Amino acid sequence: MNLLKGLLDYTRLVFHRWYPKKRIEAYQLKELKKLYRYAIAHSPFYRDLYRDAPFNSISDFYKLPVIDKKRMMDHFTELNTCGLVKEEVSDFALRRETEKAYLQYYKDRYVVGLSSGTSGNKGLFITERELTERLPFVFLARSGIPLRLLPFKILFMLRVFNQGFNDINADFISLSYLSTMEPVDRVIQTINALGINILMAPPSMINRLLPEVRRITADIRLVVTYAEVLSPVEKDRFKEVFKTEVIEIYQASEGQMASACRLGHLHINEDLVFVELYDAEGCLIGEPGVVGHRMIITNLVNYAQPLIRYEMNDMIVLDEPCPCGSKFRRIKQVLGRHDDILYFRRGDEIQYVFPDLFVRWIIVTSDDIREFKVIQHRLNEITVDLDLLVPNAGIPDLLKAKLLRELAAYGIQNPEISINLKRIELPREKNKFKRFESHLPKD
Ligand SMILES: [Zn+2]
Repeated sequence: MNLLKGLLDYTRLVFHRWYPKKRIEAYQLKELKKLYRYAIAHSPFYRDLYRDAPFNSISDFYKLPVIDKKRMMDHFTELNTCGLVKEEVSDFALRRETEKAYLQYYKDRYVVGLSSGTSGNKGLFITERELTERLPFVFLARSGIPLRLLPFKILFMLRVFNQGFNDINADFISLSYLSTMEPVDRVIQTINALGINILMAPPSMINRLLPEVRRITADIRLVVTYAEVLSPVEKDRFKEVFKTEVIEIYQASEGQMASACRLGHLHINEDLVFVELYDAEGCLIGEPGVVGHRMIITNLVNYAQPLIRYEMNDMIVLDEPCPCGSKFRRIKQVLGRHDDILYFRRGDEIQYVFPDLFVRWIIVTSDDIREFKVIQHRLNEITVDLDLLVPNAGIPDLLKAKLLRELAAYGIQNPEISINLKRIELPREKNKFKRFESHLPKD
């Protein structure tokens, strides 16, 4: 990775976020058109898909067909612009997983991401190596890391480590990479030996470090998390244990969705992804606090595998404008999937409850709750599976009373709550575990 190029990115990225709204929109339109033209020229799939779909104004863009993961995967070979064959890329990705040989680039040029997804449908995502190598600079530029932390001594941990990530060393910035597959001992040794002051890692990795935090002698001044949803409870815990600010970056296989500003608030990376949010009636959502029905994104920077008007399973809820001054839309909440929200009756209306609120109610009930799972099949009815550290027959009643009380405070009367004590086995990939499962019919 060329440090100079990285710094140019850094400057450009810092600059974009201060654009006024009109200028952001103009920039997006320009980039969308560029991508559309490129896709038609280089992707047989898009050439066919857009045959009768001209794109001159933004309203034309909103009329382009929407694709989803299944469609993208069904047409992987014709969709990508590099002539990559689905079966071969898939073989490569699976072999890499089984051999744990994460250090390889595909054809020495592409980073291949594999996502299993909650519904079990596999997704393959390819990115040009060069683009991936610029990622830390995106993170840095957007993370609002205060300059008083100079020189930055960053440890950047990735689930899938790529050899091409060369460590960067300059007077004011050193950046070292480590795989999250590394044992905790090795991670702590690295942090201490390099005098790391900025720790960047997925929440599950930070969780693994928590019991050993006494052994960290380096002065960590900032923790940055990404790749998985950071719950407010975890964020508070990390803050307390590391005695430092914790900021979040929201990254999906489909793109670098959002980064936190200097105030710690998440903003959509409007210059990297174009995000459309729709309500159940198909109207664009612009106002804060509304839980959408569909989120459609376009990755503005990935030309190897253009994702244009691609429907995500995630959902974001917008927040009020941020006092930091950036006009990039601010995110109040990232929901793993839009059906993860719980729905109850409030008089004649429907009241939704965010999972993180529910998590808080459950975990404060008892320290003996090892794991839990909340399942909803019908409106106003939920089942909670509880796995306890030690047998305690009183906890289900305590929890039920707590939930009823909290829900009543939101005007939710007489919800049906059943609580079962049972052993909960976590899947091997912990971040794939769904604590909330909604089986409510859509609409
Ligand atoms: Zn902000």
